[in-house]
Amino acid sequence: MRICARCGQEQAVAPGEPLWPLGWRCEGCGWQVGAAGAVALLKPELADTATGYSGHLFEFHAVHEASHFWFSPRRDLIVWALRHFFPNARSFMEIGCGNGPVLAAIAQMRPDLALFGAELHPKGLERASQRLGTRAQFVQMDAREINLRDEIDVIGAFDVIEHIAEDERVLEQMYKAVRPGGGILVAVPQHPFLWSESDERLFHQRRYERGEMERKMRAAGFDVIWSTSYTSLLFPAMAASRLLARPAGAGSGAGVGTGAVGAGQEDGLSEREFDVAPWLNRILKGIQDLEVKLTKSGMRWPVGGSRFVAGVKPASN
Ligand SMILES: [Zn+2]
Repeated sequence: MRICARCGQEQAVAPGEPLWPLGWRCEGCGWQVGAAGAVALLKPELADTATGYSGHLFEFHAVHEASHFWFSPRRDLIVWALRHFFPNARSFMEIGCGNGPVLAAIAQMRPDLALFGAELHPKGLERASQRLGTRAQFVQMDAREINLRDEIDVIGAFDVIEHIAEDERVLEQMYKAVRPGGGILVAVPQHPFLWSESDERLFHQRRYERGEMERKMRAAGFDVIWSTSYTSLLFPAMAASRLLARPAGAGSGAGVGTGAVGAGQEDGLSEREFDVAPWLNRILKGIQDLEVKLTKSGMRWPVGGSRFVAGVKPASN
């Protein structure tokens, strides 16, 4: 069901129909979905704000994501987890899809899946839409108001929820939007003691404590079926890098990002950790690839720069 953002009236989505046909109008109140090219706009009033992210980071990502040690093994892990934990899924929505690199990888591996990309920032959506064409439907929306019920088999949010103050509300909205028996896949930065200036530049609201995401997912109604740290083999190097780089007197803990944003960071890493020479990238990617391989074979890592969690919405709810 799609839900009118203004009056809350629900309407069934016909098989094969877009979630939000361009120009869709609510029968109850006349609220109309906007459009920019092929992208449906549910929350155009937030489109040009920098809420939670900086638009120009997308341009940096577009250059670096293909073979970078941070992006490439992570994509591999996401595609595997989707297949492994949700083998019967027929639809997948990524919240915070950015330029669409994860969706593009899923499109390649899973021609059977209907794909939806959601993002608050139109700049990322524009590029994702160019990249995936009609293979996915793109929606500009606020993750705090997904406006769907029992509609999508799996929703993914990878390094997104930590940008949003109301993370529990986002999880509740994800719960509402997925079908009973479906679920969600989430990745977030982990360990508040790693909090650094780069978290603030990235507008992070928090890094998660161990067990925090699982607890919040259960509170939203999910059964947690998988949880592991990620970037665990590189964790000692990462922790050392953060602790050594911290200015004297700076503490750890949650803060609200403000100020200028420089390109060159990714959510788990500081810009110094992120922008590495090609030879070092090969080594780091080798380590991350090994970790992903071990994770696929059943390893659960206790500590790491990120936390991956999968949750299922019980079939009888
Ligand atoms: Zn309405």
